Amino acid sequence: MNEGESQDTIATVEVYLVDLSQDKPYLGSLREGETVNESGYFVRLGNRTVYPRKNRSLVVKLTTDDGVIGWGETYGLVAPQATAAIISDLLTGFVIGRDPFEVEAVHDELYDLMRVRGYTGGFYLDALAAIDIALWDIAGKMAGVPVAELLGGFQRQQIPAYVSGLPEDTLSRRCELAKSWQDRGFHSLKFALPVADDGAVAEIKALRETLGDDARIAIDLHWSLTAPECLTLTEELAPFRPWFLEAPVATEEIESLQEVAQKSGERIAVGEEWRTAYDARLRIDRGACHIVQPEMGHTGITQFKRIAEYAHQHELEIIPHATIGSGIFLAASLQASAALKGVTSHEFQHSIFDPFRHFTSDVLKCELGKFDLPQSPGIGVEPSETMLESMTLIPS
Ligand code: MG
Repeated sequence: MNEGESQDTIATVEVYLVDLSQDKPYLGSLREGETVNESGYFVRLGNRTVYPRKNRSLVVKLTTDDGVIGWGETYGLVAPQATAAIISDLLTGFVIGRDPFEVEAVHDELYDLMRVRGYTGGFYLDALAAIDIALWDIAGKMAGVPVAELLGGFQRQQIPAYVSGLPEDTLSRRCELAKSWQDRGFHSLKFALPVADDGAVAEIKALRETLGDDARIAIDLHWSLTAPECLTLTEELAPFRPWFLEAPVATEEIESLQEVAQKSGERIAVGEEWRTAYDARLRIDRGACHIVQPEMGHTGITQFKRIAEYAHQHELEIIPHATIGSGIFLAASLQASAALKGVTSHEFQHSIFDPFRHFTSDVLKCELGKFDLPQSPGIGVEPSETMLESMTLIPS
């Protein structure tokens, strides 16, 4: 630091739970046999995954000595108090006093803290992702530039968006919903196998007939198949030309993923559950995928960048995942997606985005098949008054 230059460092860390509850559950109505338990959770039988009946996320607010505020966000869907405790009990003490411009060094230091104990994923790295996004936000604000500029500059000013999920109860209504998005300029979409009640083949056949030859139709298989099952299914799907197949087999089964990627003839997309570039390397080095889908709420900006760079070096496409959040980590994902090579599209979770876009000052826009990018310093969004009213401070 030059003499006379002020060094502004992190002074406080606060963690908030954000209420994102909606009338209709994520992925649509509960199916037969799916019931909410006393803790407020239910399991989707199609993917054996737990969801909260009331959506929520965790938001982190970092403030510097000079009063610069940075926002970060991570998953709060399941046991949010666990992630909040990791931030307040453990990470805060190592973040206070740090220079936001050293964000990658801080990230690596915090990652290293828990390696020997085996915490190289899960809740620990979700907590780290929220801190990481907030540090990048502050660094951008202090430099007076969008985070995309800190990541090397804008490769693109708009990002193609694909419509994700058709949360209606019947196939004919899902086709109507898909058509309504096509009429609004969205020509790429994805449906989810666990709520495709008549099966993947019937679903894509009906959607193809509704949307025509030029539409891109992807299928999220939600980790539900074995490799042989997937190879049989892909033969049946082939006449309807899927855009890509997502998460075909259990994430632990890397050899099965490799088999599907190399034998199916279809483009295989994975990565929404990854936390780090180490997760990416395990699959990419084996040729086990064609498209990677980093999720900012799990990776933070630092690992998102490293995953995308590794994928691009191996000539893979990057189509980031988007999930249930207030807009903070989506904004961070768009900043990174604007700057990194190889990003060809971005997931658009309209059933979350549309009801909650006013949570971040109305600056996030997704129209005519494209996201517009916020241009203000940092990640480009701030919580609106409405969002602040939906946030509850978690005592540390
Ligand atoms: Mg998915």
